[in-house]
Order: sequence, then C-alpha cells, then structure tokens
Amino acid sequence: MVERQLRGRGILDETVLAVMASLPRELFVPPGLQSVAYSDEALPIAAGQSISQPYMVARMTELLEPGPGMHVLEVGTGSGYQAAVLARLGCVVVSVERHADLAGVARVRLDELGLADRVRIVVGDGSVGRPEDAPFGGILVTAAAPWIPDALSGQLADGGRMVVPVGSTRHQELTLVVRRGDTFETHDCGACVFVPLVGEAGFGETALPHHLWPGRLSL
Ligand code: SAH
Repeated sequence: MVERQLRGRGILDETVLAVMASLPRELFVPPGLQSVAYSDEALPIAAGQSISQPYMVARMTELLEPGPGMHVLEVGTGSGYQAAVLARLGCVVVSVERHADLAGVARVRLDELGLADRVRIVVGDGSVGRPEDAPFGGILVTAAAPWIPDALSGQLADGGRMVVPVGSTRHQELTLVVRRGDTFETHDCGACVFVPLVGEAGFGETALPHHLWPGRLSL
C-alpha cells in the first residue's frame, strides 16, 4: 500500500508514510473486509459511511502539515483511522462524529491502540466546529461540504491549515485553506469524492439517497 499507492503517487512526507506503514488498517474495517483493508479504495463501514481510500488519507494528512503537539479538529470520525494516523503523528485531536454508534466503535479501537490520551471523540454536528476547543492549528473535514464552512475557518489559529472537500454531493475539489491573520488563502488540490457532510453548514439529511452512494468508490 505504502510503496504503490502512496509513495508511487507522490506522497513525500516520510513521517506520514512510516505511520501509515505501521498502523494496522485491518482493525478499522468491518469484519469480512479485512482481506481488502489495504486495497486502493474507500470501503463501507456502518451507518452507510466509509473509511477513506489510503491515498486520500495520506494526501489530506500531508496537506495539513501535522507535527507533534498540533491541536487538530477532525470533522467525521467514521472508523477512527484518520484520527489514529494524526495521533500517531503526535497531534492532539478532537474528532466530531454525528453517528453515536460509529463514535463508540472508534473510541474502543483508539483506546486499544493506546491513543486514548491523544484523541477525544465528541458526538455532534462538526460542521459548526468546536468553538469551545478552538483555535486549531489544523482542521480536517473528512466529508464533502457544499462550501467552505465559515465557522470552521474562524476556528483556525493564525497560520493554521484546513483541508476540506468542497463541491456537490457527487464530486468535490480537495481544498486547502491557510489562515494568515484575517486573510484566508485557498488552494485547489485535486478532485475527490466523499460522503456528504450533513448538518448546519453541510447538506440536508436527504442529500444523497443511500442507494446512490456507491460506498466502494475508488478515488
Ligand atoms: N475520517 C473517517 C472517514 C469518515 S467518512 C475515517 O478515517 O474512517 C465521513 C464521516 O463524517 C461519516 O462517519 C459521517 O457520519 C460523518 N459526518 C458527516 N457529517 C457530519 C457532521 N456534520 N458532523 C460530524 N460528523 C459528520
């Protein structure tokens, strides 16, 4: 996975590559999919959601430029895999998930990996961020937003970086936002497809009929 899917496609950050090489991804996929845990695709998890394709996790992580002690907000805990990658990179993570059942399963996995003190999981609408925990050095939104959520931009520290897929429910542009004082630089970083962000700054509950979401879409 690391050599072909990540390094082979231009992921350069050796620390990110090392963490993804050592983190057991099979612990984060449902029983029955363990044999394809390292394949080049997103995989379905409970509640109609997905664990992102390994390349997309690596790309988003690299764009965030994480480092030890960085305070990071993740929106969309899902399986907990992305949060585990950030924690193993030394980040202190607050991860928000709207599905309590997914949050519960992710909590157990992260505890078992000894990452309890690095990742706090909160059940709720992460599209409005976590003002009580702001500012953040990094914000990673792992679901598709219709626009750059203002509330999240406002919770970035000066110099902070946010990575968020922005677009329709079917296609998005991976977008990097960098805060410089009161100015927000944006950079387009390539096409992607994520499950919808649902909530106040996201799409409505009925954004994408479940039968239209392919679930195993390769990004
Ligand atoms: N980062 C995850 C992948 C997440 S898939 C991983 O590594 O496995 C996107 C997740 O975002 C889903 O679990 C979905 O339930 C969640 N989500 C969607 N809208 C949300 C919102 N407004 N607040 C919090 N979580 C949300």
